[in-house]
Formats: sequence, C-alpha cells, structure tokens
Amino acid sequence: MSQPSAAQPAEDRGHVREIPSKSQQFGDWYTAVVLKAELADYYPVRGCTVIRPYGYTIWELMQQGLDRRFKATGHTNAYFPLFIPQSFLQREAQHVEGFAPEVAWVTRGGGEELSEPLAVRPTSETAFGHMYARWIRSYRDLPVLINQWCNVVRWEKATRPFLRTMEFLWQEGHTAHRTGDEAEAEALRMLDVYRDFAETDLSIPVLAGRKPDSEKFPGALHSYTIEALMPDGQALQAGTSHNLGQNFARAFNIKFLDSDNTEKYVSTTSWGVSWRMLGGLIMVHGDDRGLVLPPTVAPIQAVIVPILTGKAQADVLAASRSIAERLSPIARTRLDDRTEVTPGWKFSDWEMRGVPLRIELGPRDLGQRQVILVPRVGGGRRSVPLDGVTDAVSGALQEFQQALFLQAKAYLDSHIVSASTREEAVAAIAEHKGFVRLGWCGGAACEEALRNETGASPRLISEESVEGTCPVCGSAARHVVYYARAY
Ligand SMILES: [Zn+2]
Repeated sequence: MSQPSAAQPAEDRGHVREIPSKSQQFGDWYTAVVLKAELADYYPVRGCTVIRPYGYTIWELMQQGLDRRFKATGHTNAYFPLFIPQSFLQREAQHVEGFAPEVAWVTRGGGEELSEPLAVRPTSETAFGHMYARWIRSYRDLPVLINQWCNVVRWEKATRPFLRTMEFLWQEGHTAHRTGDEAEAEALRMLDVYRDFAETDLSIPVLAGRKPDSEKFPGALHSYTIEALMPDGQALQAGTSHNLGQNFARAFNIKFLDSDNTEKYVSTTSWGVSWRMLGGLIMVHGDDRGLVLPPTVAPIQAVIVPILTGKAQADVLAASRSIAERLSPIARTRLDDRTEVTPGWKFSDWEMRGVPLRIELGPRDLGQRQVILVPRVGGGRRSVPLDGVTDAVSGALQEFQQALFLQAKAYLDSHIVSASTREEAVAAIAEHKGFVRLGWCGGAACEEALRNETGASPRLISEESVEGTCPVCGSAARHVVYYARAY
C-alpha cells in the first residue's frame, strides 16, 4: 500500500533519480539538492543567488534559534547602513589590508562622481566603531551589546550557493566593554552560543577553538572558530568570534571615563554566523535521496500522506485532516492531499525536501485505528495508534533530531587522527579524510612548512592539554592544533 503505484508514469520519480550520488559526485550532488529541493537558484549577476521560499524558511528558523540565544545573553538588535565611507575602512591598518581585495565600491551616484567612495559593507566593525565613539561616554554606558542581521558583500570569483557567494546574509554582533577580560569573556561566550546552536539546533557536532594568528580576523587580537567536518573530509568554518582588544577603539577613538576618573579605551568584540551554516547543514545530513533536515529547522516537520484508494477515500481524507489539526500545535505539519500525483511520487518529493517525518494513512490503517510513521532516515517505520499520534510524533521528532547528531558525531570522531612525526603528519593529511591532530611549537615557520607541504591549513588551536613535540622542528609542543583542508 505504501509503495508507488505501478501505473505511475516514469517521469514521476525522475526528479529524484536525477540526483547524483553523494559519495561519488559530492559537488554535483550538492548543487542538485540545492536546486531540486528549491532552496536557491542562480541569478544573472555572478556570485549572487536567489534564496527561494523553502530555503529562506530554513534560514528564518536558524535566525530564530540564534536570535533567541543572543537575547538570552543580553544582546539587542539594531540596523546599520549598507554603505561605509572609504575613510572608515582605512583607519585600522590590518583591517583595510585584509578586506581590500574583496570590497565592492560605489563611486558614482545620482549621475555624479562621489567625493568619497563608499564601500558596500564587507563587515561593519568600522561603522559600529564610529557610532560607539559617539555613544559611549562613561563606564556606566558599558557594556554595549548589539547585533545586526543584514547582508554583506565580498567580491568572490567562484559561486556555490550558501557556501561562497558575493552577497550573503548573516548576523554580526558588535560589543564594547570596560576591560579586556570582559571582551575576552564575551568572545568566548558567543563562541559557545554558536557551538550550542550548531549542535542542538542543527545536529552538527563541531570542534571549537582559537585560530592561529595567521588565520585570525584582520584587526583582531584573538579569533575563535567553530569548525564542522563535511562528508568529503573538508572542514567548514561555521562561525567565528573575535576579541578585537583595543585595536578598533584606538582607530575610532572610543573612550570612556572610568570610575577612577581616568579616560580609557574600550575593548570590543565582533562575532558572526552566515547562511554558510545552511550549506553545512545540507552537506552533513543529506543523502542520495536529497535533503535531510533536523526537525528544529525543518519548514515542514511532519507531512501526512493519505492513501486515497477505494470506497473509504472520504473517511481517510477526513481522518487525515483531523490528524493535521491535532498536530499543528506541536509540529509544523503539512497535509498533502493532492490528487494529481501518486502517493509514491509524494513520498520521494518530501524525502527530497528533507521532511523529517512522514505519516501515512490508508483505508486499512483507518480500519485498525492506526497510522504509519516513517522517519526520513534510519528506518524505524512503525505503526502507532491514532489516539496517540501527537505524543508519538513529538517523540519521533526528538529522536530524529538526536539521531542526526549522533550519526554526524560518529563520523566526526572517526575522522580525527593524531600524527606525531612530520612524515606521519604529511601522510595523514594526504591520505586521511578529516582532521589531523598535531602538537605545535607555536612557531610560524613550522606552520608555514606544514601548510606548504600538505595544502591543508591549521583550523584551530584546541584547549586540550598537550604532550610531545612539534612534528616539524622537534621542540616541545605548546599547543594542540587541528589541520584540515577547508572550504
Ligand atoms: Zn615547530
């Protein structure tokens, strides 16, 4: 009964069969899922993509999960302008050097040359810096904890929807603090917010740690990152948090009068997560049948597919409507009562869109006062009594969220290897998919040597205690570093 009907036209399931194999053609698979699940589409301006309603709804759910956490940690939202005067960007030397190659400039407006070119914001530390210098006077004004949701533009040569686009959506938090210690605590707090969001809401386990200096944000004292592992063995930087120290405070003259009556510079932070994390979500959980979404960010958490055959059609449809009504307070539910496509077509259509749970109801099920629950992955098809459907769906969604995390965690754990000699390190990075864990003396030359020899980069410095020696120079290791090839 739950199998596609034999009379179903061949093209009915064609859109699913066309998805390339995830394990064999990972890049093509990714693009196909993005397009066929109607998450995004290409646009005639290079580097720009259109996010379609289904994809945008996932992004909105991600925003909600993050925004709730930002508010719970004392932050409020504001909105800053898209344009940044050229002179702002030039004020912090490392910042301008780091961003110069990817900034888009507006030089004409209203038919005239502008007296000062305007940058289309690549990030807004400078805009916030300018305003914080106006707003902050006293230690009583601190801390200032502001976030904004916005678009930014970085001139990219390649385009991959969500992962690398010229214009992208993100959030950027910008905070100002009385002391350097407070700024450091804030940067770490937000890193942990990102880790919790990735692991709890997206079911994506991450490694969290500090960026080596070579990889830190232009203008930062320290940068912190969460890194997720993709199925092709490459790391994806999924969120970053920066302690900017007093670098931007000095550049923008953000001072306050402290309680000891002396004037001091504030310390600032910034932190951001973009829709790139949505790209990570697609890659980590998807399979050969398409997208797989954790319930927390699934636009549709449960889809009801009635099997409308025989004399009981009207009863089955009525019962399905009643189930949809009962479920709507606890789950985002869709009743698929289309009559122009077969149940089998619907099954593969919703599977491709990653809906976590399918509920089937046919005449025989109705006779037995039961429905069939089918999770999107992992088997576990089971019948549950009609009367207990809300509890069963609620439980199944929680289980599904957890099962996705455990599956991804098992993959991550099995794709971390340790190396203790230079040969081991080089071989591990060349042959092994995933993270390679190394001791490091902290020297830039050793890092550079490994980077050149392997084509991989140090993704983060871990907090864990270190033993042994640096595999390059042989002196005592001071840090544990995770290397990987990266997006
Ligand atoms: Zn060394």
